[in-house]
Amino acid sequence: MKVNNVELVISAAKPHQYPDIGLPEFALAGRSNVGKSSFINRMIGRKSMARISSKPGKTQTLNFYKIEDTLFFVDVPGYGYAKVAKTERALWGPMIETYMADRPQLAACIHIVDLRHAPSADDVVMYDFLKHNEIPAIVIATKADKIPKGKWQKHLKVVKETLDFDPLDEIIVFSSETGLGKEEVWKAVKRRMYN
Ligand code: GDP
Repeated sequence: MKVNNVELVISAAKPHQYPDIGLPEFALAGRSNVGKSSFINRMIGRKSMARISSKPGKTQTLNFYKIEDTLFFVDVPGYGYAKVAKTERALWGPMIETYMADRPQLAACIHIVDLRHAPSADDVVMYDFLKHNEIPAIVIATKADKIPKGKWQKHLKVVKETLDFDPLDEIIVFSSETGLGKEEVWKAVKRRMYN
C-alpha cells in the first residue's frame, strides 16, 4: 500500500486529548532502539515522520498518526530503558498501560522485536501483557537485513519460543532498510481492522 496521507493528529500527554473519531488504532510497541521509528517511517513512506531514536525517558506521550483517514498508528514510548530493578518497574507509566489495556478502538498492537536476538525479558513482559489483556499482536521481527536469509527461520523459531507466541497472532520478518515485509504488514493490519 502506498500511503499518501499521514497526519500527526496529536501528541497526547493526557487521556482527554486522545482522538475521539472512532477509527481503529494500532499501537506500536518495542524496546528503545529496536527500530520502531524506522518501522513507522518505512510503513508510511516518509524519511523522518516518526522521530528516529529520540531520547528515551522524557515526557511520555502517545503520538497519534492518522493514516489515509482510515486508521491510526499510535506510537507509544519505547520500554526497557530505565535502569532499575524489574520488580520496581512497570512497562510504562499508568497512563500508557491504561491506554493499552482499556481502549475500545485498539485493534491490535504491532510489537516490534529484533530478529537477530532472542527477545529480552522486557519483550517477554510486553507480549505477556498483550496476551493477558487479550490484545491481538502483530509481531514484527525487524533488522532482517542484518542476518543472512538462510538463518531467518532459525531466528524466527527462537523469537517465537521465547515469547511463547500465540499461533492466533501473526509474526512478520521485516527490514526497514530494504522494505522487506511491508506489504505483508499492511495485509495483517487490514485483517485486524475488520474483526
Ligand atoms: P527506535 O528507538 O525503536 O525508534 O529505533 P530507531 O528506528 O531509531 O532505530 C535504531 C537504530 O537501528 C537506528 O540506527 C536505525 O537506523 C537502525 N535500524 C532500524 N531498523 C533497521 C533495519 O531494519 N535494518 C538496519 N540495518 N538498521 C535498522
